[in-house]
Amino acid sequence: ADRKLQDLNKIIEALYPLIQAEAVLTNKNVILELNECQPLYLDEKEIRQLILNIALNGLEAMTSGGRLTIKTYDKKDYVYLDIQDEGCGIDRETLEKIGTPFFTTKDTGTGLGLAVCYSVAARHNAEISIDTGKNGTTFSIRFQVN
Ligand code: ADP
Ligand code: MG
Repeated sequence: ADRKLQDLNKIIEALYPLIQAEAVLTNKNVILELNECQPLYLDEKEIRQLILNIALNGLEAMTSGGRLTIKTYDKKDYVYLDIQDEGCGIDRETLEKIGTPFFTTKDTGTGLGLAVCYSVAARHNAEISIDTGKNGTTFSIRFQVN
């Protein structure tokens, strides 16, 4: 791993045009709510992949427009990255299998996106939690500072 002390917000800002371009194709909006965060030891390529995989899942979950919100904030000794969609939500059965390599509910899915996210998170000592319901899903990644 190639980890350097850096600002998570900068990585998100650099990725934004790509996610936004994908969103406008299907009438969705991407909103950034980036608050000042303490620097973290991050492997930029891996974190880019994590954000992209979760963001694209969020866009795919919204079948008729909506907003994808990417938010960062500090809380005590943690930095949080929340990626929230207004999609269909994740049912209990799917939730149990999520992150298992090759598990997908999509016709052309690889089922690898979240498996990669969980290993990237583990390598960064970060924790992923999921809050889901009929109004959408939030993936929350919690990084420990220093
Ligand atoms: P893939 O996107 O190729 O299916 P992933 O590992 O990225 O593989 O996701 C696995 C499954 O988790 C998806 O097929 C989908 O059923 C579910 N999922 C992931 N993110 C979301 C989300 N934001 N909203 C609804 N379902 C989701
Ligand atoms: Mg995916």
